[in-house]
Amino acid sequence: MLKGKTALVTGSTSGIGLGIAKALARQGANIVMNGFGEVDGPRAEVLAAGQAAGIQVAYHAADMSRAADIEDMMKYGADQFGRIDIVVNNAGIQHVASVEDFPVERWDAIIAINLTSAFHTTRLALPAMKAANWGRIINVASVHGLVGSAQKSAYVAAKHGIVGLTKVTALETAPTGVTCNAICPGWVLTPLVQKQVDAKAQQLGVSNEEAKKVLLGEKEPSMQFTTPEELGELAVFFCSPAGNNVRGVAWNMDGGWAAQ
Ligand code: NAD
Repeated sequence: MLKGKTALVTGSTSGIGLGIAKALARQGANIVMNGFGEVDGPRAEVLAAGQAAGIQVAYHAADMSRAADIEDMMKYGADQFGRIDIVVNNAGIQHVASVEDFPVERWDAIIAINLTSAFHTTRLALPAMKAANWGRIINVASVHGLVGSAQKSAYVAAKHGIVGLTKVTALETAPTGVTCNAICPGWVLTPLVQKQVDAKAQQLGVSNEEAKKVLLGEKEPSMQFTTPEELGELAVFFCSPAGNNVRGVAWNMDGGWAAQ
């Protein structure tokens, strides 16, 4: 379905971004990966997912807190494959502390990586998408783009912000073949959340499995983690012809979290 298209997925060396990159690769899109940590293993996974479709995978190490790096990465992606047709703004970090104890440097980093980076990729991708009259911008927000939780001021502010950016981008592209939508997961068991499970296990003196149940029980009525694979399939839907007129939505996959 996406043969000949190119998708750039930020923060795709791990977790949700890797799941989305694999799902888009399976549909035949060439992938520009990005993110920190080990690259070869995740890159091999994405290549394998798209092997039957004969895709290519490139990687750029842009630090998503730096505008100049993002400009380099967007240029690199376009140079490699001709054009970036799909941007998935996924890179993100978390820090948990009360407002008065929140380290200023962590606040700035979260706003830069979880919100401002999407402004940069979007402004840089839109001209070519509009010229081609086709494009998809998918912002990985969070259920925290819709509701708040204590101790997560920067994250909740950034995620509400990216839902706002999604709506404005969708309005500005509404008469074109470019769409912009947000995905709002509840708990997904990635390294970002495992840190919170570990903290809960330590705080309560319980096992890893018990801590997962406590975390889910506080927020997610289904008592199930959403998976990167499920989120990947939602991204595929946004890229499909059936998604042509889905514009500006913040679509939760949260086990009922925001329905409460
Ligand atoms: P993760 O820690 O597994 O992956 C985060 C990715 O972002 C990694 O590839 C990491 O290298 C990359 N990254 C971090 N800082 C970066 C930077 N400065 N520059 C470039 N890349 C950077 O986390 P995840 O859970 O897969 O999170 C992915 C996205 O999903 C985030 O935006 C997160 O807020 C969102 N999200 C996660 C959950 C969850 O429960 N895990 C729920 C809702 C939303």
